[in-house]
Amino acid sequence: MQLAERLSQLGTETAFAVSAEAAQHVAKGNKVYPFHLGDMNIKTPQNIIDATYQAMQDGKTGYCPNYGIPALREALAADINKSHGTQYAMENVAIQPGGKPSIGKFVLALMNPGDEALYPNPGYPIYESQIQFHGGVAVPYSYHEGADNFELDIDELEKKITPKTKLLILNDLQNPMGAESGPEQLQAIAELVKKHDLFVLCDEAYFEIRYEGKSISLASFEGMEDRCMILYTFSKKYAMTGWRLGASIGPKEVVDVIAKLNVNDESCSNHFIQYGAIEALTGDQSGHEEILAILKERRDKAVEILNSIPGVKCYSPNATFYLFPNVTGLMKSKGLTDYEAFRKAALEETGVSFCTRRHFGSPMEGETEYYIRFAYSGIDTDQIEEGLTKFKEWAEK
Ligand code: PLP
Repeated sequence: MQLAERLSQLGTETAFAVSAEAAQHVAKGNKVYPFHLGDMNIKTPQNIIDATYQAMQDGKTGYCPNYGIPALREALAADINKSHGTQYAMENVAIQPGGKPSIGKFVLALMNPGDEALYPNPGYPIYESQIQFHGGVAVPYSYHEGADNFELDIDELEKKITPKTKLLILNDLQNPMGAESGPEQLQAIAELVKKHDLFVLCDEAYFEIRYEGKSISLASFEGMEDRCMILYTFSKKYAMTGWRLGASIGPKEVVDVIAKLNVNDESCSNHFIQYGAIEALTGDQSGHEEILAILKERRDKAVEILNSIPGVKCYSPNATFYLFPNVTGLMKSKGLTDYEAFRKAALEETGVSFCTRRHFGSPMEGETEYYIRFAYSGIDTDQIEEGLTKFKEWAEK
């Protein structure tokens, strides 16, 4: 079998390999504390399930328009306008089977082979994969440890821009770091985008997974509505990861191309789930509020224990369901400099399963600190306490 040469450029999410390893560990009769995958063990709110079931009963089981059903596109445009202060209409929305498809379609719609695209590293691994797979040059930028948050160095970002740079991928409220930029930083990014004539993918997967304060979108800044495409997803806000529903929201010209890609890829997104999504956006929000309350409790417990471990330093991000503790001291005390050796030792000795910085890209030049990522979306508070207490005991040994 001779597979296509272009496949050598296709990356993957190596977090799934950690999942497989954790499953093997369980199969051998061990207990695992799953902090590795950003999936959720919280049920989708009942009103969304009911509305979806009703749509199935009503026969919404055939194909629907490639753009998505008009009522959902309208509801989503209205919802985003309310939170972002934007002026989107139905024509600016193309429904997708999840948030992830917006990444590859965005790249396909706007990048020519040889163009440079900036993406965060550490970051969601699909950015680099899709840029390279479609013949672009993936240029990483990073966030740095600040006083109480990971921060973007705008000057450093600008230095990476060349005449060939076409795209910027921005995942503010970031996976894996939980990093978030303030209004001044976003304003500075908006200026860069205009100055260098860039187009931006605003990956807002975690825009509504927020415990304190208010999320701000780059798309809300002057002139940005024409230069941003928002990746929207129902996955996290409403605990709907397995339903696969999201949207690409941006300038009509780009949305039309993306809808054409929909025709080529999947024809349309699941029809009846789109009725559940209308209920999600316009119906009772207590389910979403409950999800946030559960996640916040988990975050606080995990941060408390992690920060009590010698050699570990962990911020408490206001958004996302990830923690990105600095474990440089702990790894040193264990005599380890290899991420995989550290991860495997922790799994073997404590059952605590997590991803490391390496699952989110290759370390950047000059990077000396070590980080791991804990996702607390798929593990209950009592299990967080039990697992991280074991992790702490092992760390202190
Ligand atoms: N973007 C980021 C930063 C993510 O972390 C994820 C999922 O973990 C996605 C996009 C894709 O989400 P989904 O396809 O489940 O909507």
